[in-house]
Amino acid sequence: MNYLEMKNVKKNFGDLEVIKDISLTVRQGEVVAVIGPSGSGKSTLLRCATLLESMDGGELSYLGEKAVYTDNDGKVTYAGADELRKIRSNFGLVFQNFNLFPHFSVMKNIMDAPVRVQKRNKKEVYEEAKQLLDQMGLSDKENCYPYQLSGGQQQRVSIARALALKPKVLFFDEPTSALDPELTGEILKVIKDLAARHMTMVIVTHEMNFARNVANHVVFMENGVIVEQGEPEVLFNSTNPRMKDFFGKFH
Ligand code: ADP
Ligand code: MG
Repeated sequence: MNYLEMKNVKKNFGDLEVIKDISLTVRQGEVVAVIGPSGSGKSTLLRCATLLESMDGGELSYLGEKAVYTDNDGKVTYAGADELRKIRSNFGLVFQNFNLFPHFSVMKNIMDAPVRVQKRNKKEVYEEAKQLLDQMGLSDKENCYPYQLSGGQQQRVSIARALALKPKVLFFDEPTSALDPELTGEILKVIKDLAARHMTMVIVTHEMNFARNVANHVVFMENGVIVEQGEPEVLFNSTNPRMKDFFGKFH
C-alpha cells in the first residue's frame, strides 16, 4: 500500500522554482533517504509533504486520501479542515534542531499533543510515553527539561514525541546535522531500530553510509528535481557525473 504519494509537485518562492515537478511514492514499511546538495529543495519537499508549506501544483495523498490536488486548469485545491486534520494524524516530523518546548519537561513534551490535540486518555498516554522513553534509552529523564539534556538526548525525546502520535509515516529533516559524530551515531542507531520495526520513514540526510545501509530507496535531488532514485546499491554506483561528483565530496 502507498502510504505517501506525491505527483508532479511544484513549489515556487516568488520567481524561484524550488520544487519542479517531483513525483515520489513511499510504500508501507519503506525507508526512503533523500540526499543531494544544499539548496536542492530537500527541506521544501518535506515541508510540502507535511503540509507546512503550500504547494503550487501537483498532488499529495496519504493512504489513498487526497490532501491536495490540482485540476487541468492548474487550480490547486486542499482538502477541507476536518479531512486535513485526519490526514495530518498520519505523519510526524523530526527536525534538525529538535524543536522541543523548552518550558515543558521531557514527559510533558511527549504527552502534550496526544492529550491536548488527540484528546487521548492521560494515563494511557503516560504509560506509552514511558515505554517510548525506555525504547529511546531515556527512562530516567522524564522530569528533566530540554536544557538539561545533550543534543542527542534532546533529539531522542523529539523522536519519542513524534512516535507518541502513532504516525504511519515519520519524516526526518537532517536529524543529525546539529550533533557531533558520537551523538550522530546514537540517533542513527535509533532510526535503524525503527527501520527494523518496519516504521515507514522519509529521511533527509548527509549520512551517506547510513542512507546506503538502512534505506530501501534513495532519492537524489538537485535544483528542485529528482535526478535519480532507486535502490541504494544502484544509486550509489550511478555513473551520472553529477552524482559521482556529489558522492566524491564525502570521501
Ligand atoms: P535543502 O533543504 O536541499 O538545502 P531548501 O529546500 O531548504 O534546500 O531550499 C531550496 C531553495 O529554496 C533554496 O534556494 C532556498 O534558498 C529557497 N528557499 C527555501 N525556503 C524559502 C523561503 N521560505 N523563502 C524563499 N526561498 C526559500
Ligand atoms: Mg534542508
